[in-house]
Amino acid sequence: MMADTGVAALRNALETERAALRRELNELGALDGTGALDYDANFADSSQVNAERGETGALVAKLRSGLDDVELALAKLDGTATPAYGICERCGQPIAEARLEAMPTARRCVTCSAAG
Ligand SMILES: [Zn+2]
Repeated sequence: MMADTGVAALRNALETERAALRRELNELGALDGTGALDYDANFADSSQVNAERGETGALVAKLRSGLDDVELALAKLDGTATPAYGICERCGQPIAEARLEAMPTARRCVTCSAAG
């Protein structure tokens, strides 16, 4: 189990990243009125998509995926998602604290990440 101060720092980092991702998505018009992700806005799949719009779609997809990872990590910290935060989703072993500090959204330990 990580020290409370470590957990607080990671939560802080995740919340900061979530706010930044939401702000970017909002600027791209990818959030609905409630601030939630608008998954009905099919930027990338539209048949009328032009090059610029396609680029936006790719960016939105990337930001959404990043936001999903952040939300999942926060849910794990809150105990509303499994496995618990800092536990590898593949092997169930604790993820090294240094790895979590470098990448707070890490879902796998170094070994499993390298194994693909
Ligand atoms: Zn693992």
